[in-house]
Amino acid sequence: MSHPLRLSKLIDWQSVLSEIDSVVEPCRGQGRVADYIPALAAIDPMKFGLAVALGDGNVHTLGDADEAFSIQSISKVFTLSMGLRKVGELLWKSVGREPSGSPFNSIVQLELERGIPRNPLINAGAIVVTDHLVEQQGADAMIAELIDRMRTLADDPSINVDQAVAHSESEAGSRNRALAYFMKSFGNLRNPVEETLKAYFSHCAIAMNCRQLARAALFLAYDGTDPVSGIQMVSSEACRRINAVMMSCGHYDNSGDFAYRIGLPGKSGVGGGILAVAPGHGTIAVWSPGLNAAGTSEVGSLALETLIQQTGWSVFV
Ligand code: GLN
Repeated sequence: MSHPLRLSKLIDWQSVLSEIDSVVEPCRGQGRVADYIPALAAIDPMKFGLAVALGDGNVHTLGDADEAFSIQSISKVFTLSMGLRKVGELLWKSVGREPSGSPFNSIVQLELERGIPRNPLINAGAIVVTDHLVEQQGADAMIAELIDRMRTLADDPSINVDQAVAHSESEAGSRNRALAYFMKSFGNLRNPVEETLKAYFSHCAIAMNCRQLARAALFLAYDGTDPVSGIQMVSSEACRRINAVMMSCGHYDNSGDFAYRIGLPGKSGVGGGILAVAPGHGTIAVWSPGLNAAGTSEVGSLALETLIQQTGWSVFV
């Protein structure tokens, strides 16, 4: 069934973007740039970009929307999509779908819950999803397929893994290794830890700009099918589920506040990007490197909050 197009008022994008610009300008640079991955520490905190992709393929942009950044945990939305497409319902035997209320790299719940991560958007959960995909095709082929999809959806062959970032994260990856070994001890990891983490670090290190990211995720706003190319990424049922998990778990222990302020399924990454999905309307990608305590872009959230006020795109209307 195709998505009933929501009756949306005609939006004057120029005035929406200029309002966002004036709200964001005095706040640029706020938050803390992630430095636990050394390659991310040097990013200029003053950067700010935003792109809105619409169902007709038009993309409206603001600021540094064409500058690539590290998508980090936003990649977990795309690996979850791939997981639901290729592994299906079986995935939910290895990973839950409840908010964790804990930081993205927390280990405490894993012991109590016998190696089954709370959801696929925290690190442990995303590692499990990646592990299933690596089991099917190996790390290199899995990453190649993912990149190929991103390029096709964004209609941009320049998208790639930033190898320097992947290497830097692997060098500093003790916490993720601990999570992976811990899950392995409970029998919830199918491949050698290093093989799975190679794929995990690679997809976190994909470099994309706001324009490409908003465009690549548009299928999530249109029942799982990219409205421009007609490519079905996931079934409409899987699409609803991915959006539900993003709404409840997309920002770790900041998910409630994000839903309260913005009211859209979203996913943050420690590179400072946020992807938000407005079902039936479009997708928004925003980038500003300074993070709040939960690892969500501070100025990015403010920009999205302003966009919602201007457009009425919250799913709660
Ligand atoms: N690659 C990062 C990590 O594993 C992703 C974290 C994030 O973006 N929240 O720590």
